[in-house]
Amino acid sequence: MDDIFSHSSPQAKPATIGFVSLGCPKALVDSERIITRLRAEGYALSAQYENADLVIVNTCGFLDSARDESLEAIGEAIAANGKVIVTGCLGAEPEVIEAAHPAVLAITGPHQYEQVMEAVHRHLPAPHHPHFDLLPESGLRLTPRHYAYLKISEGCNNRCSFCIIPKLRGGLVSRPIHHVLSEAEKLVKAGVKELLVISQDTSAYGLDVKYAPQTWRGENYQTRFLDLAEGLGSLGVWVRLHYVYPYPHVDQVLPLMAEGKITPYLDIPFQHASKSVLKAMKRPGGQDKLLNRIAGWRRTVPDLTLRSTFIVGFPGETEEDFETLLEFIKEARIDRAGCFKYENVKSADSAALPGHVPEEIKEERWHRFMQAQAEISAARAACQIGKTLPVIIDEVDQETGEATARSQADAPEIDGQVYLTEAHQTQPGDILSVKISQADAYDLYAVPV
Ligand code: SF4
Repeated sequence: MDDIFSHSSPQAKPATIGFVSLGCPKALVDSERIITRLRAEGYALSAQYENADLVIVNTCGFLDSARDESLEAIGEAIAANGKVIVTGCLGAEPEVIEAAHPAVLAITGPHQYEQVMEAVHRHLPAPHHPHFDLLPESGLRLTPRHYAYLKISEGCNNRCSFCIIPKLRGGLVSRPIHHVLSEAEKLVKAGVKELLVISQDTSAYGLDVKYAPQTWRGENYQTRFLDLAEGLGSLGVWVRLHYVYPYPHVDQVLPLMAEGKITPYLDIPFQHASKSVLKAMKRPGGQDKLLNRIAGWRRTVPDLTLRSTFIVGFPGETEEDFETLLEFIKEARIDRAGCFKYENVKSADSAALPGHVPEEIKEERWHRFMQAQAEISAARAACQIGKTLPVIIDEVDQETGEATARSQADAPEIDGQVYLTEAHQTQPGDILSVKISQADAYDLYAVPV
């Protein structure tokens, strides 16, 4: 964030915009695009509402709790500043925002960068002399310099019954593969050492454009998941695949992980393991099928890290279904797991399903899930003691030589960390080998070798 807010325009009193980014990494990418445009046009940015001439709030609308948080953030910005433009997922439901905050100046939906800029121009005209030269070629990013999110598509063609994202963001729209690979190349040239591939459904990439062929660096690539992984794998940086829907063709990417081209990490939101719950969720699979596939993946890539998210207390989930889920995470050794209690979003299809689970049972299942997951995680971490692993440095205290790093098994913000001592010589973004000396449930402790 410092990067963005510390650059001030050479004008005496630049038009200043406060920016609030709520929600998931996908929303963060939207924010980065808008901020890049604002800076390109000479606007200054401020972390404080009071010093700003106008505030943009990028909202999240996925769960009711996120909607409440977004409405609260809009209210705070109006109280502190008065001039507020709203964008993002909740912007797809302008009536909700208008009812709560009639004073907002403009409302736009997710990834409507042009409309956001139009609203900004209307309410805070662009400064006189744009300073395009202030911008790095790779655009401005909200993440630290050494890692960056790479958004490959918008929207989703699936219809999971608990999810309103397709209603908010529409069907799948893939970016052409040569654009994505060129952006990745620019990011790597600008110093990025780790690319985090994001979308709503990464493995469906290119389906909407019938896998259109394109050319990048003189080679032919189709707009599809495997070609994308091959292209990114040629850039010589860590490449982490997020939000991979478990289609059969996902198996094709495992050999690239075995060859060291793609980071051996798969973020696949399985959501559940019981066949009947998955059916009610309108998602594929079931425990046995999934376990067989995962066993095959681990044979190809023994050090594969699996991250997933699950929902407990989905309508109709019985105690037996829940136990199937617990067995699954233990047998599949899901290394990292997020667990959500089912939240009844009114406009989701699942709201109309029979058999809603009482809150106290959801709560109890959530605790049992977390307990089981903590045990899997602790056992996994204990196995790392004595190993030598590559890590990427996130932060270093040059005085004490202590550094915070991550192994290939840890995505930024959501997974564990590796705490280093004797790391005086390192800098954020360095990738080095360390020897693991201790572990607790989620984090590791190590020294450089
Ligand atoms: S795949 Fe993800 S974004 Fe698409 S409908 Fe299912 S949960 Fe929603």
